[in-house]
Amino acid sequence: MTYRKFIKAKQEEALENDKEESAVYLLMEAVTGLETNALYMRSDDEMKKEDEEKFNSIFDKYLHDNKPIQYLIGYSNFYGYDFYVNEDVLIPRCETEELVENVLYKYDDFFKGKKVDVCDLATGSGCIGITLSLEEKNMNVVATDISDKALAVAKKNNEKLGGRVTFLQGDMLKPVEGKKFDIFVSNPPYIPDDELVDSLVKDNEPNIALFGGSDGMKFYRIILSGLKKLLKPKAMVAFEHGYDKKDEMYKLAKAYFPDAKVECIKDLEGKDRMTFIYVGGIDE
Ligand code: GLN
Repeated sequence: MTYRKFIKAKQEEALENDKEESAVYLLMEAVTGLETNALYMRSDDEMKKEDEEKFNSIFDKYLHDNKPIQYLIGYSNFYGYDFYVNEDVLIPRCETEELVENVLYKYDDFFKGKKVDVCDLATGSGCIGITLSLEEKNMNVVATDISDKALAVAKKNNEKLGGRVTFLQGDMLKPVEGKKFDIFVSNPPYIPDDELVDSLVKDNEPNIALFGGSDGMKFYRIILSGLKKLLKPKAMVAFEHGYDKKDEMYKLAKAYFPDAKVECIKDLEGKDRMTFIYVGGIDE
């Protein structure tokens, strides 16, 4: 059977089982070691028996064991980099790629190529901090997490990808007390505790990385209440958050930084997904 026919049949099988069609390509790339374009060029080649066997053994687990494809193949692509992932870390999401992209873009505007100290709080797989350190040589990045197991994954990613991140273990702001940052970025857990979450997510991804208190705002409150003393006089703060939290994020940011400019940025789906706070330097 050709790769094309095989892929088509597996995509149909995924849909029949209420699974994601996109998992087929991710798995095929993992099995063949080829990227999407290279795979496409080979689509009329006869599929190798060993590829077929490897594919089927993992695909079977994907269809029947309720496991995300990223945990089964062991990595997830984020901003063009393959991050190693396992059950100890959240699978990086595409909204978070947009957070990173906006931090890089706003950095140019606000800091104009200056060397900056950056903190990525609750780094999980390390995707935010490591990507920033790879994309912008002027960013000196510290990343934290409460989970030692998550940090082990993040450190492995930093090494594998050649990142320049220093890791610290601890709860929220504690590990960075006494430090001062130009940029503070975080995608903390923000799903309200009682929200219904797909079992593929809830039963596999670390719940500590998903839920953010009764209204999903718990970690922003904790962070913002202690953040001022960790920032340099001119600083930028960037959060990812729930799509319905624009107004609450604005109020909370203004409560602690009344003179700062606060900006909500939409994600590619048009949802209010990020809040940026510019302390000092603009409109003050
Ligand atoms: N910062 C990591 C990410 O964006 C982990 C986030 C989390 O644990 N909520 O993927």
